[in-house]
Amino acid sequence: MELTSSGLKDFFKEVVEMIEKEKDYLCELDRKLGDGDHGVTMSIGWQAVNNKLNNELADIEDCGKVSITVGKTFLNAVGSSVGPLYATGFMRGAKIAKNKTVLNERDLTEYWVAFAKGVKERGQAEVGDKTMVDTLEPFANTLEVSINNSQEFEAAFSDAVKAAEKGMNSTKDIISKKGRSSRLGDRSIGVQDPGATSAYFILSKFLHFIKS
Ligand code: ADP
Ligand code: MG
Ligand code: MG
Repeated sequence: MELTSSGLKDFFKEVVEMIEKEKDYLCELDRKLGDGDHGVTMSIGWQAVNNKLNNELADIEDCGKVSITVGKTFLNAVGSSVGPLYATGFMRGAKIAKNKTVLNERDLTEYWVAFAKGVKERGQAEVGDKTMVDTLEPFANTLEVSINNSQEFEAAFSDAVKAAEKGMNSTKDIISKKGRSSRLGDRSIGVQDPGATSAYFILSKFLHFIKS
């Protein structure tokens, strides 16, 4: 498969819609662990992205330019912790997509691995800290392993999303060691991490997008 710049923009538009649908749920998780704003934060960021997609980015064919604009727009629009985290992910992905009007399977693999690594480096969280890294790291590791085992991209991405889901679910039973929820200590046990959840939703949306 290949993803053109208009395909990439269509995917981002689907993320915009998905975030609106999941906004209340993401806030509900964050009410139990943090300050209750994760859904609102994501919505503000993605609505700003939507505005760019419909205006400045409408005629842009460089996937790198599209992705860097998504990252920068998100960063400028979002005040909370996830602002710089997701922004770094999309800006790292943009380096892979630079000057490309079409992304092939290799580019897409490198894009998502760079995305996951970027978030991890920016936030300095490890697996087990109860953050989005619990979703993203197993996702990226599985994607790389499956591709290296010469699996087809769609099957490899599907395996990676399953690993992401497992990682997201694992955040329910652990103590938060990073971000606002770490202040709760033991009381953070029992609730799934909002950022791990939104990260899973984005990856799962991409799988759905390439399958349709
Ligand atoms: P805030 O806590 O500033 O209100 P949000 O509610 O939008 O920000 O996002 C909270 C999410 O950010 C958490 O659920 C967690 O997944 C993620 N997060 C916080 N700190 C880090 C970090 N250092 N590394 C990775 N993810 C983090
Ligand atoms: Mg919050
Ligand atoms: Mg906040």
